[in-house]
Amino acid sequence: MQNMNKNNLKLAIQKSGRLTDDTLNLLRSAGLEFESYKSKLFSSCRNFPLEIVYLRDDDIPDYVSSGSVDLGIVGQNLIFEEKPSNVKKLLNLQYGFCTLTLAVPKESKAQKLADLNNLTVATTYPNSTKDFFNQNDLSIETIKITGSVEIAPMLGVAEAIADLTATGSTMALNDLRPLANIYDSEAVLISNKQSLLSKNKLQLINRLMVRFKGVLSAKNYKYVMMNAPEEILPKLKKITKGLKSPTVAPLVKAGWISVQTVIKEDVFWETIEKLKNAGASSIIILPIEKIIL
Ligand code: ATP
Ligand code: MG
Repeated sequence: MQNMNKNNLKLAIQKSGRLTDDTLNLLRSAGLEFESYKSKLFSSCRNFPLEIVYLRDDDIPDYVSSGSVDLGIVGQNLIFEEKPSNVKKLLNLQYGFCTLTLAVPKESKAQKLADLNNLTVATTYPNSTKDFFNQNDLSIETIKITGSVEIAPMLGVAEAIADLTATGSTMALNDLRPLANIYDSEAVLISNKQSLLSKNKLQLINRLMVRFKGVLSAKNYKYVMMNAPEEILPKLKKITKGLKSPTVAPLVKAGWISVQTVIKEDVFWETIEKLKNAGASSIIILPIEKIIL
């Protein structure tokens, strides 16, 4: 068996589950080259001093907290739940979006949170659930269940459940009615606090962060090229507050220019409509692979 290099940074990711594909994509988009087979315990990167360790997601916060690995990628829900003391969140990764949702059986009399006061909630996230009720000046009993939480009310062990949902369809399918959102979550990059104090490790972590941020911001922007009469340039600049000032080049057609800039994904269509209305034409939109600021 191949050995891990002790001087390399160690990053723990979920071995097989909801976060695995997106995490491997992120690492590959960040230019890391490694082999990943389902049966592997870890992979060494060919082109970066990094070992990727494959674990159950529940174990990752503890491994990072104890310093067995330097970095981890997990759902923020696990951090909210386990509150590992020696861990710092470095980056939100914009995938693995879900909500910890409190729900009751459709026929339940409970209409609001207070109706559950002093009753029992079945959940994989008892700390998060208790914290939420405490913040609302209520108290709750919890029973910890790690799988098929939806069935607990039917078995009579709890009046409500708190479970992660992405679309809510699983809850609807099981005749459950959402009562409140406890929190929203997404995948995050976390670090062991001591690793951030080691000069060598910090330097490597920062290099990785530049790459991850480059991939993430590229996802949020599009590259736009358009033609426009010269006199509307000030208007176009106002509409597209890009990363920096736009690139402007003259066209053969007198009085016309070509303008190139980047625009944010979340206001993408609004911006395109405004540009068209302002007089821009032949608008071309391109995906961006990476942005290094
Ligand atoms: P493991 O075998 O690693 O313990 P798991 O079954 O505990 O896996 P998954 O169901 O793969 O975990 O979920 C991993 C993470 O994906 C969750 O902690 C959460 O952050 C995120 N997630 C995103 N959408 C959902 C969803 N609809 N339900 C559950 N988790 C979700
Ligand atoms: Mg798990």
